[in-house]
Amino acid sequence: MNVFQRIGNALSRFMYGRNGADQLGLCMIWVLILLNVANIFVRQGIAGAILNVVAAILAVCIIYRIFSRNLYKRRAENAAFLNKVWYPVRRRFTDARIQARDKDHKYFTCPDCRAVCRVPRGKGNIVITCPRCGKQIRGKS
Ligand SMILES: [Zn+2]
Repeated sequence: MNVFQRIGNALSRFMYGRNGADQLGLCMIWVLILLNVANIFVRQGIAGAILNVVAAILAVCIIYRIFSRNLYKRRAENAAFLNKVWYPVRRRFTDARIQARDKDHKYFTCPDCRAVCRVPRGKGNIVITCPRCGKQIRGKS
């Protein structure tokens, strides 16, 4: 067994039973990178100091979450993050992509209940009745 295999095995043993990197952790790392990039431009003054402190606290939280052995709590945090942020954002992007590809229909979002209504294109000025709440939406298809 060479040195690198030994180091790899030791790391595996060390990380056994620990949380590691999950979606929340990766997202926090991206936020940390953005904060540090923003800090390059701000640098001086009270804003720079606040950015530094926030970035340091975030870095400590990331490291704590990666090495935490309380898997139950970390997974609950990650699940809450996935349900409240990750899946809605991902769904919005996939919906936008699907709507951009669909050249035969136009999409309207109900201002009251946020339901998405699909209508055929090229019918002129129309009044759409929301199928969920019944509100009437005027638009050009
Ligand atoms: Zn509606």
